[in-house]
Amino acid sequence: MALTLFDLKLPLHAEESSLKRIAARALAMPENAIQDMRINRISLDARRKDDISFRYTVTVTLSPKDETYALRHANGHVSRAAETPSRVPVYGERPLTAPIVVAGMGPAGLFAAYLLAQNGYKPVVLERGKAVEARQEDVARFWKTGVLDVSSNAVFGEGGAGAFSDGKLTTRIKDPRAADVLALLAEHGAPDEIIHMAKPHIGTDKLVQVVRNMRLAILRMGGTVRFGTRVCGLERQGDALQAIYVEKSTEGRERIPCAACILATGHGASDVYRMLAEEGIALQAKPFAAGVRIEHPRELIDRSQFGTFAGHPRLGAAEYHLADQSGGRGVYTFCMCPGGYVVACASEQGGVVTNGMSHYARDAENSNAAIVVQVDARDYGADDPLAGLRFREKLEQDAFRLGGGGFVAPAAQVADLLAGRASNGFGSVRPTYAPGVRACDVGECLPGFIAAGVRDGIRAFSRRLQGFDLPEAVITAVESRTSAPVRVLRDKNGEAEGMLGLYPTGEGAGYAGGIVSAAVDGMRAAERIMARFARP
Ligand SMILES: Cc1cc2nc3c(=O)[nH]c(=O)nc-3n(C[C@H](O)[C@H](O)[C@H](O)COP(=O)(O)OP(=O)(O)OC[C@H]3O[C@@H](n4cnc5c(N)ncnc54)[C@H](O)[C@@H]3O)c2cc1C
Repeated sequence: MALTLFDLKLPLHAEESSLKRIAARALAMPENAIQDMRINRISLDARRKDDISFRYTVTVTLSPKDETYALRHANGHVSRAAETPSRVPVYGERPLTAPIVVAGMGPAGLFAAYLLAQNGYKPVVLERGKAVEARQEDVARFWKTGVLDVSSNAVFGEGGAGAFSDGKLTTRIKDPRAADVLALLAEHGAPDEIIHMAKPHIGTDKLVQVVRNMRLAILRMGGTVRFGTRVCGLERQGDALQAIYVEKSTEGRERIPCAACILATGHGASDVYRMLAEEGIALQAKPFAAGVRIEHPRELIDRSQFGTFAGHPRLGAAEYHLADQSGGRGVYTFCMCPGGYVVACASEQGGVVTNGMSHYARDAENSNAAIVVQVDARDYGADDPLAGLRFREKLEQDAFRLGGGGFVAPAAQVADLLAGRASNGFGSVRPTYAPGVRACDVGECLPGFIAAGVRDGIRAFSRRLQGFDLPEAVITAVESRTSAPVRVLRDKNGEAEGMLGLYPTGEGAGYAGGIVSAAVDGMRAAERIMARFARP
């Protein structure tokens, strides 16, 4: 028999070993009545800076008699532990006469391929970029020299767009597969704590190892992985997918017959959206958000969030999430990277894209986050499905021009941005974006409503987070890849409207945002395919 106890308060200075005593007090039972205790969730409560604590949810095992007593007399919030329903895979009956192809090896493709391989379906995974080890070298070279490899960069290659990230594993979706994603990551080398932390993160350094380990597992389970292989065309028979065409970095074009294809190519792949439009797949322009990155000294953010407890070893670097309105649009901080770096995330020539990453330790000098403003069809200047994509491309090209070329990003100090003038250098906060920044008037490369929204946001956020408007804080443009600018329409079976057997999946399809939700969408697509075809 088991009970779940919620909201057990463990003060910052207390050891976790005292948790059983705290649980017993909440149950109104002696400590030795608890036969077993398991931690489900740990969250940080920093609402009161003079009383920072951790809040625990735990499941305890008691004798049936003690459980009845505890349910009646407990001082804390207690309920019977919920049974986790087990999900048994469903296998279809149609024999597999051609392989199942997974296009793209970001979180969506990786988890889809893993599940298929685990269940004996031997998927063929096609990835335009390189294996994560080789990719790391290309990314490092780009950040050092500003010379971009358009097929191997911070967006394209094994591990997908999130491989060089903070590795935040939070998600707002309520899907039981999210727990499976965390468990699989832990099984392949991520720290076990991700399973119960309310805001887990693993950082670029660990994520890269996990991705490699998952690929090796897919290969061991009979899957095939082909790098340097870009999906460039589809072949249909009637209304169903029959084969896909790929372009290889070495030997040209090839036709690959397939029973089904999970298309998990992410939202960086503009060429894929254009190919789908040409193939008559139903697409829709989608709202997204765009703006800039802001960098503050990590210590300033830690002090604002944790007061005198800043620097406490159990707290790590502080996070924030802030939101407000500007001119009737939402403006909010996005993808905050405590103790991290602003990074160059271009995947196309002639466009500057910024984003953020951290290592597991989150111990770099600055903390950064995007400040983004909602954009939608009224801003796109056209109403075709690719109008949002062109809007995004223009933002990135304008930032490239203002930076002066070589993927140098336009940047400014907050005081200058707020005053609407150009910066001519930087002060105590040093920009971390590599290959480098050009001090200028960042507002020049942003549409007026985005520049105004960013300014309004900074003023509003500084009322909630002291020092947010630090005059020397650094602004770097442009943050444009928050979510997909296009949605690939799916029917109730998850197949593309306009082509049966094609499963648009993950963030690029417009149905996920973030590592965990993309991975969950990938698993769902794999389950749908398994339910259609017999297990080999
Ligand atoms: C710098 C950065 C930091 C981020 N930080 C976080 C974070 O901390 N937490 C979080 O939850 N999310 C974060 N994100 C977002 C997260 O990375 C994405 O939501 C997630 O990666 C989407 O997964 P996906 O599999 O749908 O697509 P992607 O990750 O974009 O993967 C698509 C894959 O398809 C491949 N591909 C593209 N075109 C083709 C083609 N034609 N043929 C074959 N292969 C192709 C690409 O090379 C890529 O590997 C971050 C993103 C970036 C860029």
